[in-house]
Amino acid sequence: MNLSFAGCGFLGVYHVGAAVCFRTHAPHLLRGKITGASAGALTAVCLLCDLSIAELTSAYFHLVNGANPYTFGLFNPLFDLQKCIKEGLQKFLPEDAHERCTGKLHISLTRVYDGKNVIVSQYNSRDELINALLCACFIPMISGVLPPRFYGVRYMDSGFSDNLPTLDEHTVTVSPFCGESDICPRDDSWKMFHLNWTNTSIEISKKNFSRFRGMFFAPEQDVMMKMCQSGFDDALCFLQRNILINCERCLTISYANDDNFMSQHTEDDPECEKCIEKRNEAKEGFMPESVLNVFETNFRMLSQKSYLLSSCTPENLWKNLQRLSPWFIA
Ligand SMILES: [Zn+2]
Repeated sequence: MNLSFAGCGFLGVYHVGAAVCFRTHAPHLLRGKITGASAGALTAVCLLCDLSIAELTSAYFHLVNGANPYTFGLFNPLFDLQKCIKEGLQKFLPEDAHERCTGKLHISLTRVYDGKNVIVSQYNSRDELINALLCACFIPMISGVLPPRFYGVRYMDSGFSDNLPTLDEHTVTVSPFCGESDICPRDDSWKMFHLNWTNTSIEISKKNFSRFRGMFFAPEQDVMMKMCQSGFDDALCFLQRNILINCERCLTISYANDDNFMSQHTEDDPECEKCIEKRNEAKEGFMPESVLNVFETNFRMLSQKSYLLSSCTPENLWKNLQRLSPWFIA
């Protein structure tokens, strides 16, 4: 079973919730391949590099805190999205990140010269892995002028070609938009009209419209917290529905038998009491304390910031003007 996380900008906080749920209740699912686009690829790399739940949440806030001093969110030309992502990756990824991710992390990219979708999964060094992730998050005119290269070829965000890649028919898809993905929010709506945005099914609903805005402008604190909890709850619902929460013993048996976890488990011991107990415990759906702590600390930091002023110091303005100079020359 493989996982796929949709590209979704700041709505990546939904992926954080889902990732925390997988880590807590079904770590065996993280042994397969993980694919993703843009913010989804960032979530995937954190899971494959075994970042702790608190680190995973902090990595997300690194981006939000970087963007939040600026009005107009990602669209503010003074905000350097690529620099912010690069700094975050260099801070959080372990030295052997490329080894952990080769063959397992499948990043969806759009090749600039022909607009075709390319999925990459081989990384010879940590820097090359970071380059691939920077390509995956490059949005022309928002991230800069020239797209970055991965092994000499220029790529950009796969929102232009395949925003929710699937590796095979067993790929579990995760998306913060209400639609037809395996794990996604379920809104009360007519469910009649769907839009297909490069492979991501999006229902035409009022809530999805406001989610769309949240892709580019970091949502309010309480919305962000709710979205993270929603990712956690929707993933938990999926695990319960598909009987994917199991006890240590059954997991050990399945590791030994390997691969087809679901069929092995149900054939071996369909009535395992410990498994049932674990599923009942999970019904409570509590978010781990470590996540809540990270949220609390970061919200405190955000509220202490004077948004506009912090971006308008003479030093910052000069730095940003230098960065923007290619625009004027072009
Ligand atoms: Zn069991």
